Amino acid sequence: MFDAILIDKTDDAQSVSQTQIDTDHLPEGDVLVEIAYSTLNYKDALAITGASPVVRKFPMVPGIDFAGIVRESSHPDYKADDKVVLNGWGVGEVHWGGLAKFARVKGDWLVPLPEAISMKRAMAIGTAGYTAMLCVQALEKHGVAPDAGPVAVTGAAGGVGSVAVTLLASRGYEVAAVTGREEEADFLTSLGASSIVARDELSGKPRALNKERFAGGVDVAGSTVLANLLSMTRYGGTVAACGLAAGMDLPASVAPFILRGVTLAGVDSVMCPAPRRRAAWDALAAELDMEKLDALSVELPFSEVIDAAPKFLKGQIRGRVIVPVAPELG
Ligand code: NDP
Repeated sequence: MFDAILIDKTDDAQSVSQTQIDTDHLPEGDVLVEIAYSTLNYKDALAITGASPVVRKFPMVPGIDFAGIVRESSHPDYKADDKVVLNGWGVGEVHWGGLAKFARVKGDWLVPLPEAISMKRAMAIGTAGYTAMLCVQALEKHGVAPDAGPVAVTGAAGGVGSVAVTLLASRGYEVAAVTGREEEADFLTSLGASSIVARDELSGKPRALNKERFAGGVDVAGSTVLANLLSMTRYGGTVAACGLAAGMDLPASVAPFILRGVTLAGVDSVMCPAPRRRAAWDALAAELDMEKLDALSVELPFSEVIDAAPKFLKGQIRGRVIVPVAPELG
């Protein structure tokens, strides 16, 4: 038996509890992982609170990512004692996830943990940090170079945003951190932001085209914020969009695309093919300033995860939230 968070549904009501699960009840998979660290992501908070239909199969162990040690494997790429990290693939949504002491998953979903990253730091990075790297790589792929001019990062004080600010600044970009929390200005500057932009400046009714302000952007907000960002993107620029913190809609016009050649690059971390996710993790190991990473991470005890989820959705949590499950594993 081991500790897990379990979400269940009866009729229309969702319940969530910390409980004990028998290893025999774990879902099918060719690798059994003992989890050292997991995290609380925006999606996990949606799943735990039931605020959005993230969970598509009940009962469900939430947790879209984890880092841990392989205990049993019949997959050719993994053997006992290998350190691994997992992000996405529907784990914590349709397959039992990382907010538990053990997970049984498909070996094809795992990434070998790069040596330069500890299991704790892997979860300080987590799905948010790995997604931030996918966004940065999308900007690079579309030719937004560090000398192109300011690059906006929305939701800058959140999980994806704070890592994106750090990564872009360390690559030499001029980062305009867009935040709704003025009080986080010093924190964002310490991560490398060159300027702080009030979220209100991107929250008004979007115009088809606005003054050209940013060479590109990383957007976690969607909706009006993304529409405004697109209208402010310079000729030939690119915005990497990965989130919906402000909403799922996009009240934009085609003007930025057809008159300024702007590119809207969609970023998905969940089903991202294995070679691209390995490349993102390798780049994180090579580039991410681990001291800055430590400064933007907080630990949340396993026993407090359920209570913390509603606060997370209110945007009251800064940076990345690590959940130690078995920190003694290293
Ligand atoms: P966090 O809650 O840590 O950060 C979200 C940030 O967005 C907040 O901290 C806040 O930043 C900002 N924000 C909150 N509400 C609004 C609003 N109404 N308008 C504009 N900005 C707002 O979440 P994550 O960083 O973990 O995730 C961010 C988004 O990215 C989520 O929508 C998540 O689902 C998505 N995501 C997508 C992935 C993918 O694969 N595509 C993977 C990971 C995350 P501030 O206070 O600085 O303004």
